Amino acid sequence: MPGRNFLYIPGPTNVPQRIRNAMSLEQEDMRAADFPEFTLPLFEDMKKMFKTETGRVFIYPASGTGGWEAAVTNTLSAGDKVLMSHFGHFSYLWVDLCQRHGLDVQALEVDWGEGVPVEQYADILKADTNREIKAVFATQNETATGVASDIAAVRKALDDADHPALLFVDGVSSVGSLDFRMDEWGVDLCVSGSQKGFMLPTGLGIVCASQKALEARKSATLPRTFFSFDDMIAGNDNGFFPYTPPTILLRGLREAVDMLLEEGLDNVFARHTRMATAVRKAVAAWGLTLVANEEKWYSDTVSAIYVPEGFDGNEVARHAYKYYNLALSISLGKIAGKAFRIGHLGDLNEMMLMTPLAGAEMAMHDLGIPLELGSGVAAAQEYLCSTRQARI
Ligand SMILES: *Cc1c(COP(=O)(O)O)cnc(C)c1O
Repeated sequence: MPGRNFLYIPGPTNVPQRIRNAMSLEQEDMRAADFPEFTLPLFEDMKKMFKTETGRVFIYPASGTGGWEAAVTNTLSAGDKVLMSHFGHFSYLWVDLCQRHGLDVQALEVDWGEGVPVEQYADILKADTNREIKAVFATQNETATGVASDIAAVRKALDDADHPALLFVDGVSSVGSLDFRMDEWGVDLCVSGSQKGFMLPTGLGIVCASQKALEARKSATLPRTFFSFDDMIAGNDNGFFPYTPPTILLRGLREAVDMLLEEGLDNVFARHTRMATAVRKAVAAWGLTLVANEEKWYSDTVSAIYVPEGFDGNEVARHAYKYYNLALSISLGKIAGKAFRIGHLGDLNEMMLMTPLAGAEMAMHDLGIPLELGSGVAAAQEYLCSTRQARI
């Protein structure tokens, strides 16, 4: 088959040619005398990705899930009480990981389509006068439902209760695409991965830890070896790693960070908002609705779109793949089959965005979902034209 495959799942995302070129390298000696000249500035610049000056970034050969495990095992102990909420596949998996590590998890079940229940968090934190809750968890962007949550508001709930719990944030599908402010929001542990906003292949679990989180590791007793902050710090302080680092991915990360800094993070976020708005215009023109049930929950990196009753959203994704070489994303868990998802994060511009919109429209049309061919595309075009920005 001529032509290419078009990838619009919310991770892995498209890896730009510039990053692919930067990774087309020989293997290198990770103990070479000049390796720290590469790694130390990278560790410094990674702090900019999280907007932190006082925190510290750990880069593991892992995926986002490994980042979760690193954050939890380095700072908590079995039996510690933690406050969590779940409203989609990924926030639920995080609950599961904490339970399997023997934490005492209070997991609030929230309707899919909504995000972190901040008011409930505030009440629970205020009522916790004995300060038994050791950590509060928030998924900034629930990739399964396309729901973004207000992390600053979670910080405020902690502050209003004058509560000392650590604040953990899942930023796997948001860091580098949606605004994230480690220091300003008083986040203690933020987890990310390489294959979403960082536009790289899967293979890096990235954790940013605050000074408070680093202090917590001294009394935390969950076992950790591969993920040990102590071992990482001992190596990283000198520009090295406690084990073989994925040097090619690190070189790619260097390029990704350069690209994000050249564009300017605020411009990156604005671009994601604009692309996401165009998707939402298309969804409205199709007469469909998002899984995110209110504007305040809308995600600028992924849209989960309900198909009408009697149709199968996962069939839309399968059909687009089979006939049009387009990878849209299926829906998972409670909404499996009721929706399909479009990932619109990372390396993306106007013309790249027209592809999944046109393809989703064609697939839905083929499957008999009542919509007018071109309607969503036209609505997105209208919006993108009216907000056009000169590239040069
Ligand atoms: C992708 C994702 C994860 C899991 O990351 P892996 O890299 O697949 O381990 C966790 N949380 C969120 C919000 C995600 O989008």
